[in-house]
Amino acid sequence: MKGKLHHIEIYVKDLNVSKEFWGWLLGELGYSVSQQWEQGISYIFDKTYIVFVQVEKKHLDVSYHRCKAGLNHLAFHGGSRAFVDDITSKLRDRGVKILYEDQHPYAGGPDYYAVFFEDPDRMKVEITA
Ligand SMILES: [Zn+2]
Repeated sequence: MKGKLHHIEIYVKDLNVSKEFWGWLLGELGYSVSQQWEQGISYIFDKTYIVFVQVEKKHLDVSYHRCKAGLNHLAFHGGSRAFVDDITSKLRDRGVKILYEDQHPYAGGPDYYAVFFEDPDRMKVEITA
């Protein structure tokens, strides 16, 4: 286990909106709810979990921007091109904006099959075959 990612914790502007989005997406990826409390929720897959926590009101004024210093994106294995295609169409059905649409699904390069999109706080998310 040494060195493997243990968990990621992300602060979000609106926990309910993030729960709606990430609960669905992580469910598609095989995660399930691990813990849930008033200000947060965690989803687990195997031994890695991802936590979402409501930002306190006093910190809401400083917004996240993925082009500034800090986290730019999270990338998940999709397992296959078929899964990437399937999740892309589900994202579209949900009204989620697909990034780099003109290059999709090769925005990561000619030998790299992936979909890029934004979470409710405009953090970039990637799912690659
Ligand atoms: Zn990436």
